[in-house]
Amino acid sequence: MPFCPECGSEYTSDVSLCADCQFELVPQRLPEDTVEYVDWEVIQEIPNEFVGNLIKGVLAGEGIDAVVRSHEISALGGIRLESEWGEILVHADQVQDAKMVVQDYLASLPADALEDRDADSEVI
Ligand SMILES: [Zn+2]
Repeated sequence: MPFCPECGSEYTSDVSLCADCQFELVPQRLPEDTVEYVDWEVIQEIPNEFVGNLIKGVLAGEGIDAVVRSHEISALGGIRLESEWGEILVHADQVQDAKMVVQDYLASLPADALEDRDADSEVI
């Protein structure tokens, strides 16, 4: 993944300038990329993909690279727990920052915002 030579922030491959420093990102393939999230930690369980991507976007806005991982992908026979669609992971170095960002974000939402939106999003 490309990273900023000035501050060391990592970005997804579709980003070319550091959001903080405006430095051009340097492409680099870290050996860690081949390891499956060995240094990553779960910071938040999520009820659905919609919420997962919301939180991922909020974290990205704070310069924190996050991964949305669905339990469905690894569940045998599609077994699915209603309350846990998946989880959000961030790099171990950013766990504390990420948790604060997510907590602030969740606290700013209405109490029912994390309920399953699929059920009532089509109500007219
Ligand atoms: Zn930077």
